[in-house]
Amino acid sequence: METKSKDFLRRVVEEDLDLGKYKKVITRFPPEPNGFPHIGHAKSIAINFGIAKEYGGYCNLRMDDTNPTTEDTKYVEALKDAVEWLGFEWRGDVRYTSDYFSKIHGYAIKLIKMGKAYVDSLDEDEIREYRGTVTQAGKRSRYAQRTIEENLELFEKMKNGEFKDGEHLLRAKIDMSSANMKMRDPILYRIRHAHHFRAKDEWSIYPLYDFAHPLSDYIEGVSHSICTLEFENNRDIYDWVLDTLQLEPPRPYQHEFARLNINYTVMSKRKLLELVKEKIVNGWDDPRLPTIAGYKRRGYTPESILNFCESIGVSKSNSTVDVAQLEFSIRDDLNKKVPRVMSILNPLKVTIENYDGYEKIDASYYPADVPKEGSRKLPFSKEIYIDRDDFMETPSKGYFRLTPNQPVRLKYAYIISCKEIVKDSNGDIVEIKAEYYPNSKSGEDESGIKVKSAIQWVEAKEAKRIEVRLYDRLFKTQAPEGVEDINPDSLKIIKNALIEPAVIDEKPDVRFQFEREGYFYADPIDYTDEKPVFNKIVALKESFSKKKKNIAQKSSKPEVKKAQIDGEVVPMTKEEETLFENYTKELKLNSEVANTLARDKKLSSFYQEALESFNSPVNIANIVTNDVARELKTKEIDDLRFSPKDVAQLVKMVDEELISNKIAKQVFEEMGQSGKEPKAIVEAKGLVQISDPKIIRPIIDEVIAKNPENVEKFRAGNKKLLGFFVGQVLKATKGKGNPKVVNALVGESLRG
Ligand code: ATP
Ligand code: MG
Repeated sequence: METKSKDFLRRVVEEDLDLGKYKKVITRFPPEPNGFPHIGHAKSIAINFGIAKEYGGYCNLRMDDTNPTTEDTKYVEALKDAVEWLGFEWRGDVRYTSDYFSKIHGYAIKLIKMGKAYVDSLDEDEIREYRGTVTQAGKRSRYAQRTIEENLELFEKMKNGEFKDGEHLLRAKIDMSSANMKMRDPILYRIRHAHHFRAKDEWSIYPLYDFAHPLSDYIEGVSHSICTLEFENNRDIYDWVLDTLQLEPPRPYQHEFARLNINYTVMSKRKLLELVKEKIVNGWDDPRLPTIAGYKRRGYTPESILNFCESIGVSKSNSTVDVAQLEFSIRDDLNKKVPRVMSILNPLKVTIENYDGYEKIDASYYPADVPKEGSRKLPFSKEIYIDRDDFMETPSKGYFRLTPNQPVRLKYAYIISCKEIVKDSNGDIVEIKAEYYPNSKSGEDESGIKVKSAIQWVEAKEAKRIEVRLYDRLFKTQAPEGVEDINPDSLKIIKNALIEPAVIDEKPDVRFQFEREGYFYADPIDYTDEKPVFNKIVALKESFSKKKKNIAQKSSKPEVKKAQIDGEVVPMTKEEETLFENYTKELKLNSEVANTLARDKKLSSFYQEALESFNSPVNIANIVTNDVARELKTKEIDDLRFSPKDVAQLVKMVDEELISNKIAKQVFEEMGQSGKEPKAIVEAKGLVQISDPKIIRPIIDEVIAKNPENVEKFRAGNKKLLGFFVGQVLKATKGKGNPKVVNALVGESLRG
């Protein structure tokens, strides 16, 4: 752990502590109680509570309840539960923004008195029109001339409910020509005649997030206000509010990190709510949902979720994480912990004709590499069940289990062979008549019989009947939008599965590995001793989805035409819409990238120009919306040290495999600093990708020579180690090895 480098948030915190900016690190987790928290919130919880804990401070749990119409106490409970389940403690009572409504109102009055806020009475259309565009300055409202007295009086009447919704607004007086559209006289208060779940009917006006949030942070003495990247443009207002009010220091500062996205998963509370409301899933804790309640019900452990959050890190650029990584975390955790037991999901009866006794076989719950003790007795008799899949009448090539000509071992017990297949009138197999080899008992086998595998089984009379719920991914597409992408086979229920009796009678744990079937969890709600129910947590091995690059790029239909900006949907202009259509339909950009480009004139013209010089629409769009956009946050186009042509040249080198993606990032950094052409940088630094097998082979040989154990494991069947070797070789080339070539050559060399 100590060797790991600190993420940028922790570095900021340490620097602030070093400078003595704050006495204590105080963070907050500020969800809006309008739905159940999801795995994205887990990331935010892990960061906010984690940082506070590490630096000896504390973290508040604050319900950001400024929107009276969507909030509910059941969501408050779910949020509290999620934080607790993940093992964190908030400081004192749960906080509510609504508790600060009076104070926030007081600050609004102070702004009015300072001449920094005014009551506006434009209608919605006018407000939009007056706001201007990214390239055009806005125009201040004619009502901004109102005197302080007039503003105070109107604001008081707004508060007292004397106006209808939408009739007036309170706005900050900032700058209608600011490059940051958010700073064009942002709205501070809105009239809303709505019942609030806590404040009841006390208020007819509600503060907006941009006003309430910095003040709530300040009121609580927060030092580091950590949020996700979509709030980057709101930071200016955050600072403006706190600075303009001339509050007594220290004041909090906002820091943004990239939100978590996972493929095959929808992650907004709004979309999750839809799935729940439409009854596509069975409530907020449906084990297929990415809600904390869903993971909890499914059998995920808090540790696995926290490990996952740690493994994905904290960064400043958005990306999509492969769901396989989350599945790896839970598998990895359970592998070290849970008892192994035998279940039969699809029973086929086997009668062992030459066995007439009854015995109890001792079997450990844990394999040798799990540092836990415990065992149970497996009853064994003439009648057992095996899984239908473990017998094949006409086996396919490479089938190692029971066939008419191939014996198999019953795990922990004897070797059996098939003597007769019993079928019903439809020709379906209903029973196997078998023979066992008396001297073949596991651990004391003297039979000399060779088998190719061992299968699980349960004794027929003592086995317990269980219900098993097999979950698969809820969505069949990588970047699902909603209901239309649902996987119709995401839940399969097996009513009559069987399990060895000790699982039900002894209850050694609530989570198990059902040998060869996966990890399972006793459902915390529906499980009874009469009808035990088990949820499948995760398969034993990764089933599909190799790590894909550019997940967002390949998927998703061009459907999102609206940008979601903290709850407000700003419609596109005609011009933007035309661009968007062109980007998604002609250039095949995904909707998110197209949306970003279409709405940003600077970016889209930069993009067009780059495209004219090299036609690689998707890859150029990627770099423009990520890397170039990042630069433009702090600079004007004219201040950039590189041109669209340079970016095109860089992408061309990647497309032609002259340099790797990784090196491209490095070159881009350098372009931003030195202003040199990418080609020149690559040449000067010798960054050209190495694709020549003559150079790569010796490096591979060296890596292979250094890792004899892993080579052996690979050859014995652990194919996952291929990745390890490729990684080592790429590292040895300092990232310059051509991954494709390296991959192919490593495979070749390892197979010998
Ligand atoms: P949603 O869009 O799902 O409703 P939100 O951002 O509106 O999410 P809030 O309840 O307002 O959710 O957010 C609480 C905190 O959790 C915020 O600080 C927010 O930035 C953070 N958060 C929400 N989603 C994610 C995510 N996917 N990854 C990381 N942090 C997130
Ligand atoms: Mg929200």
